[in-house]
Amino acid sequence: MSFKPANNIQDLQYFGEFGGVNPSISDSSTYTFLSAKTMFDTFEGNADGCYLYSRHSSPSNLYLGEALAAMEGTETANVTASGMGAITPVIMQLCGAGDHVVSSRTIYGGTYAFLKNFAPRLNITTSFVDITKLDIVEAEITKNTKVLYCESVSNPLLEVADIEGLANLAKKHNLKLVVDNTFSPLSISPAKLGADVVIHSLTKFINGSSDTVGGVVCGTQDFINELRSVNDGACMLLGSTMDSLRASSILKNLRTLHIRMQQHSHNASYLAEKFEKLGLKTVYPGLTSHPSHQLFKNMMNKQYGFGGMLTIDVGSLDKANALMELMQEKNLGYLAVSLGFYKTLFSAPGTSTSSEIPEDEQEEMGLSDGLIRFSIGLDADIERTYNMMNQCMKEVGIL
Ligand code: PLP
Repeated sequence: MSFKPANNIQDLQYFGEFGGVNPSISDSSTYTFLSAKTMFDTFEGNADGCYLYSRHSSPSNLYLGEALAAMEGTETANVTASGMGAITPVIMQLCGAGDHVVSSRTIYGGTYAFLKNFAPRLNITTSFVDITKLDIVEAEITKNTKVLYCESVSNPLLEVADIEGLANLAKKHNLKLVVDNTFSPLSISPAKLGADVVIHSLTKFINGSSDTVGGVVCGTQDFINELRSVNDGACMLLGSTMDSLRASSILKNLRTLHIRMQQHSHNASYLAEKFEKLGLKTVYPGLTSHPSHQLFKNMMNKQYGFGGMLTIDVGSLDKANALMELMQEKNLGYLAVSLGFYKTLFSAPGTSTSSEIPEDEQEEMGLSDGLIRFSIGLDADIERTYNMMNQCMKEVGIL
């Protein structure tokens, strides 16, 4: 039987303290101890099941973390206040002054900006590479390299990383492979393919209601303990902790993720095929024209599809803007960054979510001005949506 990560979420049982079907929310920042000795042991990390202070951990955060770890197939997980609040502590935990990262060059603009502009202040340097070329990745590894970093499906160009291939390189050179799986929850399970650490921005598909930011680091118990260490843990000391109220609301949304992903994938796949037939330059991992279609197919948990993200290139920023404004006027979606909402969201990444990347580098990686990134929504009648989008494209002169 194929691996079904959604079942792993379903099979978890957490009851509230009065038998509630949802776990009680831990609405406390601090916890009492019956004995001073237990408090001391908890500080030392030696009192299992005891809580100390909610920046360290809280029952609500542990429930959500355990559900996400079950989904990703890792030993455990630590939830954070945002996706960036997961990414930056992981890099800082794994790298110190003098260390080096080899990263995909097509990653979320904030991650790129952190590695390119901020991490050098800590004397951590990064080589940005075409992650689809394993020989190029390997050539950039030096004796100081500690981390290989990529997104399973990259933002915004939807490049697909060969996670098994990268995991083999990481093993060979004794590096940690860190994979941001924000664009492909359930569809791809990076830890099963050999990733050491899996990160998500929960802000996107996993929470799915565009009402909060959140993040998670999934990994081994040892690594998560390191991140939470009161002495030198980057999550504990940098303080990007999730609030318990949010953890409990994200846990409730997580339970419908498998249904939502199936619908996002269904709708995106329908539109991508139609757009391509119209002659539009369309990128979607589910299209056979995608350079890594077969690779995605080999890695994926089939029942969740190829995901909800697609891009089209309409030739110029003016045309992209005109189309997005008209589609918004017709209530086909919102001109907004972010992804994973029930409504379709669209933006031109060159001038928004990837604007941290200098123009010449955007050009080199194929991020053109006329590129529109779509996060396809949960529309019940996608054929009607397509017909209306087609009409908009005609009105602004794209078709
Ligand atoms: N990773 C990816 C792939 C993203 O698209 C984003 C945000 O757009 C992030 C990480 C950062 O997440 P957050 O905004 O929750 O900090």
